[in-house]
Amino acid sequence: MKIAVFSTYRYDEEFLSRFNTGHELSFFTVALTEETVKLAEGFDAICIFVNDRVDSEIIKTLHKGGIKLIVLRCAGFNNVAIETANELGIPVLRVPAYSPEAVAEHAIALILTLNRKTHKAYNRIREGNFSLEKLMGFNLHRHKVAVIGTGNIGKAFCRILKGFGCLISAYDPYPSTELQDLGVKYGTLQETLNDADIVALHCPLTETTKHLINKETLKLFKEGAMLINTSRGGLIDTKAVIKALKTGQLGYLGLDVYEQESTLFFHDHSENVIQDDLITRLISFPNVLITSHQGFFTKEAMEEIAQITFKNIDAFSKG
Ligand code: NAD
Repeated sequence: MKIAVFSTYRYDEEFLSRFNTGHELSFFTVALTEETVKLAEGFDAICIFVNDRVDSEIIKTLHKGGIKLIVLRCAGFNNVAIETANELGIPVLRVPAYSPEAVAEHAIALILTLNRKTHKAYNRIREGNFSLEKLMGFNLHRHKVAVIGTGNIGKAFCRILKGFGCLISAYDPYPSTELQDLGVKYGTLQETLNDADIVALHCPLTETTKHLINKETLKLFKEGAMLINTSRGGLIDTKAVIKALKTGQLGYLGLDVYEQESTLFFHDHSENVIQDDLITRLISFPNVLITSHQGFFTKEAMEEIAQITFKNIDAFSKG
């Protein structure tokens, strides 16, 4: 098949070329937008990522240009107008599960960094300051962690937390018996948030989960709790979270994803310019740690993504 790969990162070309099962790949180093959609004309399929915008109009243009398949190199598909794709008979295939450990381990890294204030120590020591002032953390052992969403990533996250001796509560419409056997206690969202020291989001962004963490649900948090989001930025009402950080209701915040990230993290890699007022306000708090949607970004995960992407393409091309 002739496949137009939209990728603003060089590493995609490296991994996709290595695992290519015989398709003709053309790489475009831009995100898919209204302006760039014409590049896909004459191709059979497009291969895209979370930062590509595939709204209804773009899908119609792709359809006119001959696109018969949309392949995502990621799990989340909230950037794709699925209904329009269905109406036009264009299958949308994704990589539902790849190295869930990559994201789970990144969530743990955010927790440990914030808790032990490693980011502060790193900066201080570069200035020759070895003081312990304001570096006191807490043991993870026996602390309560609330896990919202216990699918592939949530499960991997809980398994790691068990090793730390954490007390885990979880909320998911479909509780996992494997986790219950591990001692994870399921409850309602309210019960789960209530007395947790750490709240970690691992559910998808949907119409019902948008702003799941908002002014009201933040009131349910234990004072000074830590919130970790490696899932999707839209799960959090950022303005409400900033207020909670100001009052101390929220003690720590670790984000790998951010509400406006399509205009921020993926905007222009040649310029390190923060163009977002909310993110500027967030990073002004010393107890906030933000990474660049890099949870998935390990060698193992990239290999799996490339392999599953070609499995999807091959399955489609073989009918
Ligand atoms: P998954 O589909 O395996 O699991 C999602 C779980 O969330 C399911 O068990 C589902 O029942 C549950 N869920 C659905 N609605 C819920 C709700 N309202 N409240 C609580 N739970 C709910 O997905 P996954 O592979 O574990 O990925 C989770 C999310 O992580 C993805 O949706 C994606 O947004 C994000 N993700 C981020 C990165 C990254 O690099 N940071 C990489 C991959 C995935």
